[in-house]
Amino acid sequence: MVLPALPGSRSAAILEALRANGGSGTRTEIARAVGVARATLIEELSELEELGIVVQSSVVTSAGGRPAHTFSINSSGASVGIIDVGGSRTRVGMANLVGEVVQESLLHVSVEVGPEDVLNWAVAELQRMQEAFGPQSEPGVIVVGLPGPVDFTTGSVVRPPMMRNWQGFDVRRFINSSIKAPVIIDNDVNLIAIAEQRISYPRSQVFLVIKLGTGIGGALVIHERPLRGANGAAGDIGHTQSIENREAMCRCGQDGCVEAVAGGWALVQQLEKQGVRVDSVTDVAKLAKAGNVIALSAVRTASKVIGQAAAQAVSLLNPDTLVIAGELLEAGDIVIASIRETIYQYSLPLATHDLTVKPSALGPLVGLKGGAQLGIDYLFGRVDFLQLSSTNEK
Ligand SMILES: [Zn+2]
Repeated sequence: MVLPALPGSRSAAILEALRANGGSGTRTEIARAVGVARATLIEELSELEELGIVVQSSVVTSAGGRPAHTFSINSSGASVGIIDVGGSRTRVGMANLVGEVVQESLLHVSVEVGPEDVLNWAVAELQRMQEAFGPQSEPGVIVVGLPGPVDFTTGSVVRPPMMRNWQGFDVRRFINSSIKAPVIIDNDVNLIAIAEQRISYPRSQVFLVIKLGTGIGGALVIHERPLRGANGAAGDIGHTQSIENREAMCRCGQDGCVEAVAGGWALVQQLEKQGVRVDSVTDVAKLAKAGNVIALSAVRTASKVIGQAAAQAVSLLNPDTLVIAGELLEAGDIVIASIRETIYQYSLPLATHDLTVKPSALGPLVGLKGGAQLGIDYLFGRVDFLQLSSTNEK
């Protein structure tokens, strides 16, 4: 179902209160969270019921008094379509209104084949999932994660170092030519950060994610809001300078980037130079896990370089939580252990006093889960920063 209009600010506050309360609450609980009198909520709650976003149920208390009315988010009230494009694979999913990914599918494809091939498959998958679900599953919003800097307001990729053939491509218009729904476009690591912060670390105030995949990306959630930066490049830790090897040539055109030493693509190159045949960062990680000496040595060096870069981010931002995600983690505990050790070695004790460094716990669907959260933000009227016009129409 496509919602007829974004909820007003009071309705948005009600939905946010329900969300924070685990999806449901009594009128008294909602009123307390929103900061208004119980009676003033009646109109908004019945509007939300009419829209099918909220459902009411009555529960008779054990004391046998008046039945308590509970209001819950209607999980099937609307759906979110998500396209999570990675460097070497793309995932598509549909999520319900409580953020559960109810359908998903995966395609192993390099982002470098270009936007049309990747998105043609993704759009067809979304349509297939929609049909399997019936007319009610038409997505209320579609969220797209892309592995490069994204200008969040226009939805365009900005000088992407690894997806040059996406530069200037109007992703929103392309999707809208098949599916009519608002399209939100964000950086893929931002989606991971949103998922992990909201679901795994809801109390975190200064939250940092580093993703170790084909490339290396980073993202920040500060006081529960993603920090995207002036041009969508915030957290791009892969293209900061590495201390280890200043000569390594990066695919962004610079020498000595962290990614040029520790990125998945660089590890593949390093192993191939030493006669070990690998196709992807996953291959490298699996070989290291199996004890291959060359792979293990490359992963160790990479983890140290990433740890040094992370130490600088920790000194600058003093995060309470750092989550490491991405395929390189499949090499085993040595990755996290080495990153953690290097951060403690290179950062001031005060900056690491309360720091938690953990692997991503939400599994391979983490990007879809983050996209679901962002899509629900939109449907609930929480986002005030969305400009959803086509970039070419401006
Ligand atoms: Zn670079």
